[in-house]
Amino acid sequence: MTAGHHDVSRGWFDRACRVTPGGVNSPVRGFRAVGGTPRFFTSGRGAEVVDVDGNSYIDLVCSWGPMILGHGHPEVRAAVEAAVARGFSFGAPSITEVMLAEEICSRVEPVQQVRLVSSGTEATMSAIRLARGFTGRSVIVKFAGCYHGHSDALLAEAGSGVATFGLPGSAGVTVGAAADTLVLPYNDAAALRRAFAERGEEIAAVITEAAPANMGVVPPIDDFDRVVARTAHEFGALLISDEVMTGFRVSRSGWYGLAGPDGPDTADLFTYGKVIGGGLPVAAFGGRADVMALLAPDGPVYQAGTLSGNPVATACGLATLQNCTDEVYTQLNHVARAIAEMTSAALTAAGVGHRVQRAGNLFSVFFVDADVTDYEQARSQDTAAFARFFHAMLGQGVSLPPSAYEAWFVSAAHDDDALERIAAALPKAAAAAARQED
Ligand SMILES: *Cc1c(COP(=O)(O)O)cnc(C)c1O
Repeated sequence: MTAGHHDVSRGWFDRACRVTPGGVNSPVRGFRAVGGTPRFFTSGRGAEVVDVDGNSYIDLVCSWGPMILGHGHPEVRAAVEAAVARGFSFGAPSITEVMLAEEICSRVEPVQQVRLVSSGTEATMSAIRLARGFTGRSVIVKFAGCYHGHSDALLAEAGSGVATFGLPGSAGVTVGAAADTLVLPYNDAAALRRAFAERGEEIAAVITEAAPANMGVVPPIDDFDRVVARTAHEFGALLISDEVMTGFRVSRSGWYGLAGPDGPDTADLFTYGKVIGGGLPVAAFGGRADVMALLAPDGPVYQAGTLSGNPVATACGLATLQNCTDEVYTQLNHVARAIAEMTSAALTAAGVGHRVQRAGNLFSVFFVDADVTDYEQARSQDTAAFARFFHAMLGQGVSLPPSAYEAWFVSAAHDDDALERIAAALPKAAAAAARQED
């Protein structure tokens, strides 16, 4: 059954709104940018999710990335069930956290050590504290439109929900907390060099999404990644490559694997999340051993977590990564390309100006008439057209991220049947996007 009634979802949303602000536990889930009522999901299998009204959808959210193998992958499920049978949490070292750390380090050469945490927010926040501890400097450079979680220092001109709702930052962040954050336009090497020329001695680190995908997908152009690394290193600052979204999704070594080994232009610290938990809360930061050595209990930079390295969550993440074989990445690339191309073709046929932008198998659709290379351009997109497109897809049983500023996520379980269902929904959705409303 495809998407029809959603009275039961509406009922749960009403209940949710009474006990939770906006009815959701993460803002973008709330449909504010597209209108309407969020669906409450009860189950997922492979590429498909089912809501409380019994409607089924092809899932192009995939929990915002973690469900890279699709829902309910049998081997991941078996690993989680076995872990649950052994115990939920010990607050003491356990085996799967070591194995997950080994798996991450083995995939990314410059990651010599990692510390596991429970969210991407924690990973980037901790990496920044570590970079400040290592360099003895205060200033952090970030790029407009990049999202690095919701810690105070990183919300300035952030992507994801902050972009979706058009916010400059967040209330509740003190001037002091944001004073040491320098925000620069993405893909602008001259602005970066200027900032370093002026304040290079104060800059502890540059943090960047390895390939930005939280303002829609805006890949680095003209070697921008390398320019960032080289400039930071020239001034003794660290580079933090935020691979929370790209990590182990775009290749078996994340964006690092696609960009290739780049010697001294490699990041010093990397952050991970999403895929490495396989749907349970696991994230990590890691990198150079001499930097990581500053972390407590070895060094003076404090960082901790009651549930960090949780045995059930790490078993889920480990099984997910172990099943991310070369065939999985081949399938992800194939599916992403197919959906990107069929979407573009449908929009072209309907006369809708757009750009499909890609970074490996991450892609998003901008309703714009020119390539998007930074946040300012991303914000020029026609979000009303996206909202019409989104609802037409949802109504035909395809669940997209409810924001024009988010990447679309595929899984290895997206098969020909899933592609056919998406293809069947596109013409109507493209026509909806084309329809001018006044
Ligand atoms: C999702 C994301 C984060 C934040 O991770 P959470 O687990 O939601 O805290 C940080 N950085 C990037 C690049 C992300 O995509």
